Amino acid sequence: MARIVQKFGGTSVGDIERIKNVARIVKRQVDGGDQVTVVVSAMSGVTNDLVAKVRAIAPMHDAREYDTVVATGEQVTTGLVALALHEAGVAARSWQAWQIPFRTDDAHGRARILGIDTARLEERLAEGQVPVVAGFQGIGTDGRITTLGRGGSDITAVALAAALRADRCDIYTDVDGVYTADPRIVARARKLDKITFEEMLELASQGAKVLHTRSVELAMNLGVRLQVLSAFTGAPGTMVVDEDEIVEQHVVSGIAYSRDEAKITVVRLADRPGVAAKLFGPLAEAGINVDMIVQGGSEDGAHADMTFTVGKADLLPALKALEVRKKDLGYHSVVHDSSVVKVSVIGVGMRSHAGVAAKMFSALAERGINIQAISTSEIKISVLLSEEYTELALRTLHTAYGLDAA
Ligand code: ADP
Ligand code: ASP
Ligand code: MG
Repeated sequence: MARIVQKFGGTSVGDIERIKNVARIVKRQVDGGDQVTVVVSAMSGVTNDLVAKVRAIAPMHDAREYDTVVATGEQVTTGLVALALHEAGVAARSWQAWQIPFRTDDAHGRARILGIDTARLEERLAEGQVPVVAGFQGIGTDGRITTLGRGGSDITAVALAAALRADRCDIYTDVDGVYTADPRIVARARKLDKITFEEMLELASQGAKVLHTRSVELAMNLGVRLQVLSAFTGAPGTMVVDEDEIVEQHVVSGIAYSRDEAKITVVRLADRPGVAAKLFGPLAEAGINVDMIVQGGSEDGAHADMTFTVGKADLLPALKALEVRKKDLGYHSVVHDSSVVKVSVIGVGMRSHAGVAAKMFSALAERGINIQAISTSEIKISVLLSEEYTELALRTLHTAYGLDAA
């Protein structure tokens, strides 16, 4: 007998037929002799609708009431999936975060997990009952409902798998597994049988939303075996594994993109020691994450332009922070652009191979795509491009690195 956590995303529980399909998948696993705990997302589109309703009433909403509203989508699906399981002859019951309890801090909208008390779930598992747990939500230290951040049901599933010492966490979604690039954009993307935790973490944090970044981080740190597979096709999925389990290693394993970027250029800053600290200090204090940075000198040698990127949601706060300090920083002007995309190529093979960046730059140049900023890490190279080139850049790079399906 294995102990498995099965997580079903929004599309997988998107309508009544699909919920019945989920019950069949769970039943098959239970009939195979395994002990199963289910984690569900809200039906697809529901969380977006709830967020829109909150914003329509209060653009600067109270984060606690936001969580009260947006966590409800998962309550509905826990009940519906439990009912579908009953109909299929499987003993099951729904669990909301507060009933477990699944405890978090009080950072509403982006709460961190403090601990999961598994005693009550263990009791039910021992009785042969399938717990159907609401993903995405928690209960804060003040007893109020929290949420873990958009796409956070993946985090619930992995954290629960760790707490229950499950043998595996299966993430059921609307694609067959993790691909070399988003299969909705790159038709020739290939499904990977295996991917390393490190690469998956980079792919996720650079925009591949198939797994939430924090779920990968948790799985890596807590030693959870993680699989991504389809709720619809029955095809084998992708296992996320340690590096030593990969036999054949490509230099580049995957390509990700993120449209959640905004570019800011501070024009004609006085170029003297300490100017970067003076510029980025206040942004950090305002909780704004700066990602890519490019500094360009001016001809007179006395001034510099500083270009950097922030998440789209941080654009206005960043502009405000710069405006407030205009006199102190002594710049000429600030320009910004939100129609940009960050494209990243990722692979642990980069550590031991030269020329990966050069190939990226020449492949993009051949297509006439201008690079606006570059950043690198040990296993990743990211470039900032004009948003209109998203598809072309992804497909071009996919071919250039030999990733295309035969
Ligand atoms: P769920 O609702 O099941 O959590 P998500 O929409 O969050 O599903 O994640 C699945 C989606 O991730 C896919 O439909 C796909 O478009 C997208 N995606 C982006 N990059 C990749 C990738 N490299 N491999 C697979 N899917 C990807
Ligand atoms: N329903 C939540 C969302 O749409 C959580 C999730 O789907 O993982 O963000
Ligand atoms: Mg998701």
